[in-house]
Amino acid sequence: MATENTMGTRKIAYFSMEIALESAMPSYSGGLGVLAGDTIRAAADLRLPMVAVSLLYRKGFFEQRLAEDGSQTEEPVDWRVEDFLKEEAARASVTIEGRKVELRCWRYEAKGVRGYAVPIYFLDADLPGNADADRALSASLYGGDAYYRLCQEVLLGIGGVRMLRALGYHDLARFHMNEGHAALLSLELLAEEARARGRKRIRGEDIEKVRNKCVFTTHTPVPAGHDRFPMEYLTRVFPNQTDFLDLSDAGSAALMKRVLQVQDSYADLKAAAQSGATLNMTQLAIGLTKYVNGVAKQHGVTSRKMFPGVPIEAITNGVHAGTWSAPSFQQMFDRYVPDWREDNYSLRGVLGVPPEEVWASHLIAKHELFELVRKKTGIKLDPEVFTVGFARRATAYKRADLLLKDLHRLRQIAKNVGKFQIIYAGKSHPNDGSGKDLIRKIFQAKKALRKAVPTVFLDNYNMEVGAKMTAGVDLWLNTPQFPLEASGTSGMKAALNGVPSLSILDGWWVEGHIEGVTGWAIGDLRRGVPEDPVSDDHSEAESLYYKLESAILPMFYHERRKFIDVMQHAIAVNGSYFNTQRMVQDYIANAYIR
Ligand SMILES: *Cc1c(COP(=O)(O)O)cnc(C)c1O
Repeated sequence: MATENTMGTRKIAYFSMEIALESAMPSYSGGLGVLAGDTIRAAADLRLPMVAVSLLYRKGFFEQRLAEDGSQTEEPVDWRVEDFLKEEAARASVTIEGRKVELRCWRYEAKGVRGYAVPIYFLDADLPGNADADRALSASLYGGDAYYRLCQEVLLGIGGVRMLRALGYHDLARFHMNEGHAALLSLELLAEEARARGRKRIRGEDIEKVRNKCVFTTHTPVPAGHDRFPMEYLTRVFPNQTDFLDLSDAGSAALMKRVLQVQDSYADLKAAAQSGATLNMTQLAIGLTKYVNGVAKQHGVTSRKMFPGVPIEAITNGVHAGTWSAPSFQQMFDRYVPDWREDNYSLRGVLGVPPEEVWASHLIAKHELFELVRKKTGIKLDPEVFTVGFARRATAYKRADLLLKDLHRLRQIAKNVGKFQIIYAGKSHPNDGSGKDLIRKIFQAKKALRKAVPTVFLDNYNMEVGAKMTAGVDLWLNTPQFPLEASGTSGMKAALNGVPSLSILDGWWVEGHIEGVTGWAIGDLRRGVPEDPVSDDHSEAESLYYKLESAILPMFYHERRKFIDVMQHAIAVNGSYFNTQRMVQDYIANAYIR
């Protein structure tokens, strides 16, 4: 049983495949998990009666090893679950391939600024009574093949709902699926509706009840980010009709047609499985959810184009201000806008802070970052030199190499306009060959640029590296292919620490950018959604170089006051808004209370 103080009456259940709580706890891979963690931290600050569910990964995502030439290999993360989490006594189970899989869970508590705690439960199938294949489902995040992933999603969605009930959570009014990974929870909720009415079969009326309870947030326009499974996998996981929903009456038939977009009976489901139909987790989530949203206004536009006829709203992401501001900035905020933690909006008061103080806080953050660089690489960067940061998952559409398109040009800019240096970080998914090529390409450029433009690559990008980089550089660079950056949050962390962005106008930057005031744009604002992602590398690299040489470097070196003014606007205009406190309030007003 969960402890009294964290249980109470909880109304919102938040489900996510990954949740980033501590840098060293390998419960996340990247942006999705960081957002989940920031959401929970803000919910705790706001005393929102939320409980969260995720999966435990004994090998984590992976440790990144980089060879001399930048070739990435992966190692399992070595960590002790007991160092971070407390085991609960409650047990639940799911059925996979006719086997009973017993689940336990481990609790973490996210404490808010007023002491209120939101519990997070990590489901764990690694119990001695389970078959080896089932125990292995608690090994790696985004590892294994598609079938492995589907089985993990059975644990998360179906196992997660059952575990919450076993823990005593019976008043949950909303189930928030953070991405389609959690979509199977809706099937368990359907089964609950039928059971509650003494039926075995689900009816059309159950669907409306479930839709009213569910909230679904979609996180990416990239097709590979939307789970699709061969329907045959579903019938393999659930070989018996009784393992699955009873689909044998008219109401459930209509439901399944609508939701799974195929069959009206289990027999038909099996037939479809043989004919190559697919189960689309995003469609499933949309079909059983009343409120669906994208994660920035532009992403809302893109998502409505991807799913015609679905009323997809937009709630722009944020970051947790207390987590992502550097200690030197926290101390400055405490002095000038003392209630910023309870009320992030008060960060707009940073416009009144003396510029010298902002600069002094920045230099401390820069020093902290350069210490990390020295520890990780042995390289001593010069703190007087303008420093560009780029850290994100190494994958083709994020174009980590756009800045490196013309090395000669970079050398010329450094020589004629002002010196600069570059700090990179980022992991590539183990199966993403072109992502791995990108890291090697950065290593080649690093060698070629040598002293002209000192460049370093920090391995094992995680929360700690992310926090130090976004606070300690002078400029945050982002170069995605429009319109594939759903939101992006690292630029928001930078803004909170007075680090302006230079970015493609995509994701959150469409809303956060005011030219020369909060940062700078690469290329022009685009409207609508193109048929194909825009990969105008040549003109966008040109725009990047032009902004650097004509606006940013001259301002940094010759108009420092003006540069600090941009830094203060990054905090006051963007830090005060692109935070999860505002974001969770938006979810409460639009998705949770309705
Ligand atoms: C903030 C963060 C991200 C997400 O940032 P993006 O701008 O969306 O790439 C990913 N990984 C880590 C470790 C982070 O701290």
